[in-house]
Amino acid sequence: MKPTLVLVGRPNVGKSTLFNRLTKTRDAIVADIPGLTRDRHYGHGKVGDKPYLVVDTGGFEPVVKEGIMHEMARQTLQAVDEADVILFMVDVRTGCTAQDKIIADRLRQSGRPVFLVVNKAEGMRREVVTAEFHELALGDPLAISASHGEGVHELVELALESF
Ligand code: GDP
Ligand code: MG
Repeated sequence: MKPTLVLVGRPNVGKSTLFNRLTKTRDAIVADIPGLTRDRHYGHGKVGDKPYLVVDTGGFEPVVKEGIMHEMARQTLQAVDEADVILFMVDVRTGCTAQDKIIADRLRQSGRPVFLVVNKAEGMRREVVTAEFHELALGDPLAISASHGEGVHELVELALESF
C-alpha cells in the first residue's frame, strides 16, 4: 500500500497548488476564490522510488446551511481518517488565524502524524516565516512555497521518511 498524504487547511492557503506540484498535474482547481475546490481530489506521486497517494481536501461548498466552519470540520475529520500523514497547511501572508487554531486542535487530538507546513514563504527568511506558528503546538513549522516549488521536495522526503 502506498502511503497517503492528506492536505488539510482552510481555504486559500495553497493546498491545490501543492497537490498539483506533488502529482505533477493540474487536476486540482487553483483559484483566488476560497472554497472553489469541491470534495476531494486524489493523485499519485513519487519521490525517489517511493510512490505515494495525495489527497486534496477543502471542498467547502460555499452555500452550506450549517455554515463553513461546520463543513470544514467535517471534511477535515473525514480526510484525517484516510491519512497516513497529514500535511496541515497555513499561510504566512495571512498569519496564524482562529480557524488555524481550531484545525490544529482537531489534528492534535487525531493522534496521526502531522507536519505543519507554512506556505507562500518564497523569498522570506525561515525564522521569520515559522515564528508565529509555533503556538499551534504541532512541532517545527516547515517553510515552503508551493507555487515556486521551494522546500517541497524536502517536505515530502521528511513526511515519507518512515515509509
Ligand atoms: P486552496 O484553497 O488551499 O486549495 O488554495 P489554492 O491552491 O487554490 O491557492 C490559493 C491562492 O494562493 C492562489 O491564488 C495561488 O496561486 C496562491 N498560492 C498558492 N501557493 C502559493 C505560494 O507558494 N506563494 C504565493 N505567493 N501564492 C501561492
Ligand atoms: Mg483548493
